[in-house]
Amino acid sequence: MTAIPEPRPDNNALERLRVLISLGEAVEKLVRLQQVLGRQRLFVDAREQGSGYAGVIDPLLLVLNGQAETLGRNSARISSLIRGEALDEEQRIALAGIIQAVINVVLTLHELLVLLPREAPEPQVFRVLRDCFKGEWQSTSVIMTNALSSYEYRIEDVLEKLEDIGQHELTRYKGLLKGFTRAGSVLAQAFVDRSNPLAWPVLAHEYGHALDEARGISRQLVYGSEAADRSSNKEFLVKWVSEVFADFVAARVLGPASQIPFLLLEMTRPSLPRGLEEVRSHPPASLRLTLVREYLKHLDVATDEFDGVFAVYEFDYARKLVALDSAEREAKDQREEPIGTFLRSNFATIASAVDSLGLRSFGQQQLENAKELEKKLQLDLPISSLRYTKDDQILSELNSLIGSKSAPERVYEVLSNFNETPATSSEILTAGWLYKLASYEEHLKESFSAATSPTSASLSGYGDYLARTDELLLRSIELAAVHIAIVQG
Ligand SMILES: [Zn+2]
Repeated sequence: MTAIPEPRPDNNALERLRVLISLGEAVEKLVRLQQVLGRQRLFVDAREQGSGYAGVIDPLLLVLNGQAETLGRNSARISSLIRGEALDEEQRIALAGIIQAVINVVLTLHELLVLLPREAPEPQVFRVLRDCFKGEWQSTSVIMTNALSSYEYRIEDVLEKLEDIGQHELTRYKGLLKGFTRAGSVLAQAFVDRSNPLAWPVLAHEYGHALDEARGISRQLVYGSEAADRSSNKEFLVKWVSEVFADFVAARVLGPASQIPFLLLEMTRPSLPRGLEEVRSHPPASLRLTLVREYLKHLDVATDEFDGVFAVYEFDYARKLVALDSAEREAKDQREEPIGTFLRSNFATIASAVDSLGLRSFGQQQLENAKELEKKLQLDLPISSLRYTKDDQILSELNSLIGSKSAPERVYEVLSNFNETPATSSEILTAGWLYKLASYEEHLKESFSAATSPTSASLSGYGDYLARTDELLLRSIELAAVHIAIVQG
């Protein structure tokens, strides 16, 4: 039986953070979508005149603007929440409902973007994936698509959903797909995530699936020496193992920050999935987080900096669980219990399968480096490199040379400690998340300032903050690549 959380004194603080995170997500998705449509508008105007695309973009933009106005009208209420002023129960429920409604509209609109001409991903995407996977990376296509496909399904899954096409055609289509790239996989990225490196851990997870499938790892774990039977019930086990395997791969190459985009997406859902269908394709998100945290512990990576978000996610999950009626909760428990038992008992096997891939592991040192880099982001500087020796250490070594009889070359040796080492993509993305988690609230506060405007919001201010963060991270990824090229000569 799943434990239902007791009301605790710190629940008010968690509830405030939960609503703040949803608000941050609502505003972020909204302004990013406005940017995507703005870019598309230019593209259409410049190249596709008379194509009819403008007829699709303008109504979408109108709806988005309407949602921005809705948030603006509630600026006074939102501003009170951000400032930690107590809202009465009615106000609180109304506000959470408004934010959820905005998220629902924005996410639904995002699904409609598949109607538009495709954009290409940023070149830095490939730099991050190559850096994460090193020798295991094989050139793989990334296409822009809707959010549901990029977070929930892979192109292969989408094909499988085309039930009418039959097994023979399905095999043929999959074969065609494999012909696209050497790795035989196509990674999907949501339109809104195009310029947002903080969302890219999703691609590391997807590439984990590609590695798994190329070698049949999850299948082998479930079937052992037995011949695989694609119509058997064990196929569900293969799906569950493959999700946890891909989660571990992302956690191994990117550390705890790899989980944040998934958790934020889960938090934007209005309720927990109720049907059987969901459980068949994915283990419950809360179980996945528990297993990933266990895996990070196994890698000796502390998660302290991210425990706050994990706690808000768990609080949000517990709230949604309470919202189910008892029969639904019971049914959910019955569906999920065997998955939990099965995956927990296979934790060590899945972990060792991921460990044996030979991927460089994110370690405690990367986390420490990321904390240093975050300080630079706070100063609005790119974070492409790190210096390991502190100023005072270099100074004291130089001082020790004064009056000593050491050779002059020794001075140059000490001065070489000023050399900077290029940051890894995992350090850059982790620093980016640390910075975002520490700064989003302040920027929301500026956007919803009741004092200057109780009935409107400056969402473009929040958009500028996101765009600047994107720019700093994209530049950092690019500069680190240049730095490595120079060092390697
Ligand atoms: Zn997956």
